[in-house]
Amino acid sequence: MICRPGGATLQTLWPPLGTPAGSRLGLTLEPVKASPQTQLRLLELADLDAELARLDHRRRGLPEVAELARLEARASEVRDALVVAETELGDLAREQVRAERDVEQVRARIDRDRARLDAGQVSAARELASLQAEIENLHRRQDDLEEVVLELMERRETLESQLAELATERDRLSDQTAEVAARRDAAVKEIDEQAGRASDQRGQIAAEVPADLLALYDQIRKTKGVGAAMLRGGRCEGCHLSLNAADLGVIRAAAPDEVVRCEECRRILVRTPESGL
Ligand SMILES: [Zn+2]
Repeated sequence: MICRPGGATLQTLWPPLGTPAGSRLGLTLEPVKASPQTQLRLLELADLDAELARLDHRRRGLPEVAELARLEARASEVRDALVVAETELGDLAREQVRAERDVEQVRARIDRDRARLDAGQVSAARELASLQAEIENLHRRQDDLEEVVLELMERRETLESQLAELATERDRLSDQTAEVAARRDAAVKEIDEQAGRASDQRGQIAAEVPADLLALYDQIRKTKGVGAAMLRGGRCEGCHLSLNAADLGVIRAAAPDEVVRCEECRRILVRTPESGL
């Protein structure tokens, strides 16, 4: 603990004596000290963590990812529309078969009636008139049914051209999806390679940082993304807030191996010749 004039305290890594560890900071770490050189390594870690976060953000924000989602949504609509159209087409085909069968039956009936007439089987005037009337009725019925068949054929043609358009769109979407997915994969591969290099570097540096300091850094990193920041020109580079004169005085007076944390963002504040102390 560093005491300020007036009794106020600057929070350094460790909690004030006599208070349970972490009661103020939410930390449960033991006091940590580290040489200025070791503290500087935290800035390298911070840079790499920031880069890893940027890469992760870029990976998730790739325009190809959004484009693929749009393509997939449309492809799903087209698939559904195809199913509906194919079902409807099947229904129409069955309806047409039924209507054509009806036409055939009416035509056969007409042929039968005509044969009876032509054969002179019907001679009574009333029966003759009734047969002729029936033939007329059957002709009208045939016309109506043929009209229905024509209508069904037209509907089928319309539907078939819609189906063809949908199938074309489905194929086009599939090509586009493959093309965009290839672009996304290439971008992801590049990002992964960069992330892999940053991660390797991070591993090497982390291996050189004492375990207690690294544990503190990583704990802060979990909530802040980056666990340490440079004090530059009296300003914390983590939260970009300037420290007041009193806090700067306290830091100036602190031993070089004391690990100091920013009061605002709680990141480890690393002192350098640029710190403005
Ligand atoms: Zn800060």
